[in-house]
Amino acid sequence: MYRHFVPSQYVHTVFDITPESLLKKGIKGIITDLDNTLVEWDRPEATPRLIEWLAAMKQAGIQVVIVSNNKEMRVKSFADPLGIPFIFQARKPMGRAFRKALAIMEVKRDKVVVIGDQMLTDIFGGNLNKLHTILVLPVAQSDGFFTRFNRLVERRIMRRLKKKGQIMWEEEN
Ligand SMILES: [Mg+2]
Repeated sequence: MYRHFVPSQYVHTVFDITPESLLKKGIKGIITDLDNTLVEWDRPEATPRLIEWLAAMKQAGIQVVIVSNNKEMRVKSFADPLGIPFIFQARKPMGRAFRKALAIMEVKRDKVVVIGDQMLTDIFGGNLNKLHTILVLPVAQSDGFFTRFNRLVERRIMRRLKKKGQIMWEEEN
């Protein structure tokens, strides 16, 4: 059970994920979470640095789809100015949105990474769907209301995995 929560890879921020590192693994598509993964959950628009990161991915021929459990208004107003396809109210870790994102990109499962800041939704969902998963540290220390409960569970899982030696990195505080 617990192994489903272990990401294939762990980085501090999305900016640690470069087009070169993905291309080396044959990755052609990114399914990314929005809140506290790309920007703080309460920041309405992309930062200049994120816009640059997305442009670099596009230039490298790597597609990006935003898959978020948040409401349409939040996800649409963030993604539309960037010209990036998105799925809102995705109900991660459920599989439907992941399958839909794969269909949008027309990229095979083994050429796609899932990026997110939550083990219970992003990583668990990605792993269940047999996708490569990358966990990032949450951009902000704070969370939206529903995420706070998930964080409690996440900390328990994290402790458990550390005890079993399945997690190699140290958490930042
Ligand atoms: Mg998130």
